[in-house]
Amino acid sequence: MKLLEEAIMNKGKILGGDVLKVDAFLNHQIDPKLTEQMAEEFYSHFKDKNITKVVTIESSGIAPAIMTALKLDVPMVFIKKTTPSTMLHPLSETIHSFTKNKDVTICIDQEYISEQDNVLFIDDFLANGEAYRGVELLMKKANAKIGGVGIVIEKSFQKGHQYIVESGIDFIALASIKKFNEGIIEFN
Ligand code: 5GP
Repeated sequence: MKLLEEAIMNKGKILGGDVLKVDAFLNHQIDPKLTEQMAEEFYSHFKDKNITKVVTIESSGIAPAIMTALKLDVPMVFIKKTTPSTMLHPLSETIHSFTKNKDVTICIDQEYISEQDNVLFIDDFLANGEAYRGVELLMKKANAKIGGVGIVIEKSFQKGHQYIVESGIDFIALASIKKFNEGIIEFN
């Protein structure tokens, strides 16, 4: 997606440890028009895939996920990174957070996901695929199907890309970074 690549080039900052900072439009301040265009791309790709629910993980996946859900006319559920006492039937899994470099427990209430669901997972970044693997396990516990994965920015040189492609799932990344080359971002 050309507009997204331009935003990454103009506003993104490469930090150490292969982390791209895009707080200017995705992870802190959010650009509504750009997010709407991301959602349009996800919608065009997945509109005929009988998606019943959009699922993401809090917090940075929520903006693109809710706009995509609006276009697909389905609910959006965000997986939580804490288990609130108000959650009556939690399903949980532990994943390793790439940016925090620690294990986090993610959870979803069974009330909002069932064997009738064909889920589209949307997230801001794909790095090693830990978040996706956690979602895969949670959806398995809920007997829900994953009908597709939509990622805003993938770093295809990390492990997650290959894992998802090999799983055969319908997958789209709106911007795909091949490598960080001495401060320059190279796209696929
Ligand atoms: P994964 O689970 O695929 O290893 O990492 C994906 C998650 O880690 C994303 O949900 C995102 O929050 C975070 N993440 C991974 N790589 C980056 C990055 O380069 N920049 C930012 N801002 N977040 C990242």
